[in-house]
Amino acid sequence: MAYVVTEACIRCKYMECVEICPVACFAAGEVMLVIDPTECIDCGLCEPACPANAIFHETDPRTQEWQSINASHAAIWPKIARKGAPINDADAWNGRPGKAELFSGKPAGAA
Ligand code: SF4
Ligand code: SF4
Repeated sequence: MAYVVTEACIRCKYMECVEICPVACFAAGEVMLVIDPTECIDCGLCEPACPANAIFHETDPRTQEWQSINASHAAIWPKIARKGAPINDADAWNGRPGKAELFSGKPAGAA
């Protein structure tokens, strides 16, 4: 079992989750992070730490569309263990609905 990062993370990337995860199983994309389900130990520490309420357990129906995105992109995006700078306009995007269309499959740092 694993936790899953969902749409609310897009264009936020506050990365409080990264700092608290004991096994460094987050991977970084251009506009959001994902959790590697093969490494997540299901501890649940990241869920309340996320200021955007973007993380849910995989049994939560809100993760349905995002489980395969987390799994496939965690395998190809770089793993991240330290908090970086959030996206400049992160606060303006926090809580906005309908961000799924802004998803990017590019890894963090890609040109
Ligand atoms: S703390 Fe939440 S919004 Fe921020 S990067 Fe982690 S999952 Fe995404
Ligand atoms: S549930 Fe625990 S192990 Fe899994 S991503 Fe969150 S903090 Fe890391």
